This record gives sequence, structure tokens and C-alpha cells, in this order.
Amino acid sequence: MLKSEYLQRVYTGVITRDPDQREFHQAVLEVLESLDLIVDQHPEYEERGIIETFVEPERMICFRVPWDDDQGRVHVNRGYRIQFSSAIGPYKGGLRFHPTVNLSILKFLGFEQILKNSLTGLPMGGAKGGSDFDPKGKSDTEVMRFCQSFMTELNRHIGQFVDVPAGDIGVGAREIGYLFGQYRRVRGSYDAGVLTGKGLSFGGSLVRTEATGYGLCYLTEEMLKCMKKESFEGKTVVISGSGNVAIFATEKAAQLGGKVVALSDSNGYIHDPSGIDLDVVKDIKLGHRGRIREYADRVPGSTYTEGFRGIWNIPCDIALPCATQNEIDGSIAKTIVKNGVMAVAEGANMPCLPEAIRVFQEAGVLFAPAKAANAGGVATSGLEMSQNSMRYSWSFEEVDRRLRDIMVNIFHNAYNASQECGVPGDLVVGANIAGFLKVSQVMVAQGLI
Ligand code: NDP
Repeated sequence: MLKSEYLQRVYTGVITRDPDQREFHQAVLEVLESLDLIVDQHPEYEERGIIETFVEPERMICFRVPWDDDQGRVHVNRGYRIQFSSAIGPYKGGLRFHPTVNLSILKFLGFEQILKNSLTGLPMGGAKGGSDFDPKGKSDTEVMRFCQSFMTELNRHIGQFVDVPAGDIGVGAREIGYLFGQYRRVRGSYDAGVLTGKGLSFGGSLVRTEATGYGLCYLTEEMLKCMKKESFEGKTVVISGSGNVAIFATEKAAQLGGKVVALSDSNGYIHDPSGIDLDVVKDIKLGHRGRIREYADRVPGSTYTEGFRGIWNIPCDIALPCATQNEIDGSIAKTIVKNGVMAVAEGANMPCLPEAIRVFQEAGVLFAPAKAANAGGVATSGLEMSQNSMRYSWSFEEVDRRLRDIMVNIFHNAYNASQECGVPGDLVVGANIAGFLKVSQVMVAQGLI
């Protein structure tokens, strides 16, 4: 129950309007709980209807995506783009291709994206999109035909000054390439700035591939340094997932002196007590889109266990969940705490349920929420947009330096906001408030409400 009668009314309205959208309710409630600490100082929120405006997307686009498989059979998927907020810049957020995609998941992701993008300090609004299409097990030509059909509809809703999609689960460099090719074909114009995460030879940015995982570790390192006078050096790290975010978090954690001992996919997890050999993982996942279980066949001394949640029984100093939402519940969080964890930072979006976050915070474990911790991906997408506008490319070192600076700033903005709200070190509250204040001020300044 929220303290503020106004916020409680807004939350009840969200549930009544879309009673089945559980993930969206969860994301909204977390933000409203933070705003509960400051709403009394801002009577204009209620007077101007700011919060009820903020929780409703500006626009929701839903369309059919017919495509032919290699046998010539027609399949029909559903495509979406949730253009949640364009207050501080063009809509910006990834596309997810996964069978679990629905309105609730995309609204939660788009909502989070508003605050995340605000925290980066770059001029980007919030959006998310995708489809219930499953790229797993599909041939390259099937994925290409799907992407072409998807973009045939989506193209009329996006543009470098309107909405700039990027990748997410199931949408990597291959899919972005097909999507960009189709955009170019149907629009007859080379608008490199319409998508981010592009290949380096057609407008992509160095470090974009690595950015979310690297950024996660930069923010975690800063949090460890400022809040515990600690670092990655000599620490045991467990990372869930084995996709884009997990792979490059593993790389950076190791570069910073940590030892990553476990990775997973949706079937199970590997444990390598002597430290994950990332070359083998890259060969399996990036080389031939294989399953993580292959690692145990190739690396002596490592093991594979069925069931992806078991990974959290492995003791670690630093836990980086990088797979998907709602992976860690209260009971898994208690196990992680019992095993002596010092810091948890969310690489995935909303991997920890609210009760898990409470367990970590009550145990004094440092906790960095996704909207701060995984903002490196979208921040580097913002840097890709800048480079596209300038028709110029920065070096790897230049982009990496800017990414690191942005992540360090995000940590301090969230940390300072948590202190100002009287809950020092609560980065959930800090990130929500720091992100929200900027967007709400712009909404008022632009007369958007
Ligand atoms: P990928 O598709 O590259 O990898 C996703 C990984 O998570 C895979 O190992 C996948 O295993 C696993 N996974 C997916 N669904 C489940 C599930 N239901 N249970 C267990 N494991 C699962 O995606 P990314 O690495 O890009 O994204 C991971 C997370 O990070 C997502 O929450 C995404 O929203 C978030 N994120 C990504 C950004 C980016 O730049 N890529 C930016 C910010 C956030 P399997 O192969 O078996 O499906």
C-alpha cells in the first residue's frame, strides 16, 4: 500500500485498466514506491496529473507480421512498438524477439527505459518493441524474411528524429542488419541514424556490442569503491545468461581482476571453479549459436547442470544476473546472501523480484537496479546516434572512455539522489527519483500534461 493517496489511486487505475499486465504493474509499483518519498514536496504532480500521464504510453503500435519459412509455409507473428515517452528526446529502446513477448512485458520495458535513458544524461525518450517470434532454431533466411516483414510495417513509425530502435533478447547484429537493409529498401534513403547496434561498416559504433556488459561492470566497480572501498580484484563472480550482456560482463569482470565461475542459458548452467574460459564461450555462443552445455564437454574440470536457477547456489562475492526478468525470487536471494555475496547488480531488466531486492538490502548487500546498472547499452546507442549525425566514428578507446564516464555519473546521480531522499545507498530509490525528476520537469516545461 502506498502512503500517498494520490499515488495509490494512480496505481489502482493502472491495474484496473490492464488487469493482466503483471510485469507492468510490478515496474510501476517500484517507481511509485520511490516517488512516495517525494510526492508531498510536489503538489503539482497531482494538480497537473503528472504521474497518471507518466504511466500511460504516448502511443502503442501493434501489427501482424506474416513470413514464409524455408518450406514456403506462411506463419503469422505479432509485432509491437510501445512509444512510451518522447519528453526528452526521440523514442529510444530495443526490440525483443522472444515467444514470451506481449504487451505487459513491452510496457514494463518501455517504462523502465524512460528512466534509464534519462539517467544517461543523453537526449533520448523511452520505448520498447518486438515480437513473439522465436529466432531459435530458424535458418538465417527465415530470420531475414521475418525481419523484412517486421520492418515493412515498422518503418513508417520510426526515424532518426522520431524513434530509434536497437537490439535486445533475440535481436543482435544479424537481425539489426536485416532490419536496416529493409528500412533502406522501402524508404529509398540511407538514414543510418534510424537504428543502433548496426554493423561497423554501415554506421555502427565501436563498443556497442560490449557496452551493456562493460557498463554493468564499470558501475559495479564504482559502487564497490564508493560504498565498500572494494573492487572486482580477487572476487568470485557468478553471471546468469550467456548472451550479449553476460558474455561482455564476463570479459570486463575478468579484466578488472574478478574470476567468473558460472554462466547459464534457459536450459541449465556451467560451473568452472578455475574461471570461465571466455574464448570457448564466444566460440559456442557467437561462433555457432550453440548451447552453454557444450562448454562442459570442452573444458576439463567444469560441469553442466540442468535447470537455470541452480546457478544461484554457487557461492560468489558479486552476482550479476544477465539473463531475463524475474529470475531471482526471495528464496534464491536468501541463498545468495547466505553464501556471502557483497554486491548484486542487474545486467538484465528486472531480474530480481521485489522481495529479492528487499532481502539484499536488509542484509546490507550493495544492490544496483537495472535502470542504472545496464544503461551502458543505450548510452552507447546514444553515442552511436551522435556519430551518425556527425558522419564520423570515434575510436574504441574514445567510446569506451565516454561509456565509463557515463556509468560513473549514473552511479553518483543515483547515490546522491538516495542521500537527498533520506535513504542513503538505496540505489533503487535513487535511480527512480533522479531519472523521474528530469522527465517530469521537461513534461511541465513543454506543457505536455
Ligand atoms: P541475448 O538474447 O543475447 O541473451 C539472453 C540470454 O538470457 C541467453 O543466454 C538466454 O538463454 C537467456 N534467457 C532468455 N530467456 C530466459 C529465460 N526465460 N530463462 C533463463 N534464461 C533465459 O540477450 P541480451 O544478453 O541482449 O539480454 C539479456 C538481458 O539484458 C535482457 O533482460 C535484456 O532486456 C537486457 N538488456 C540488454 C541490453 C543489450 O544491449 N543487449 C541492454 C540493456 C538490457 P537461451 O539462449 O536459452 O534463451
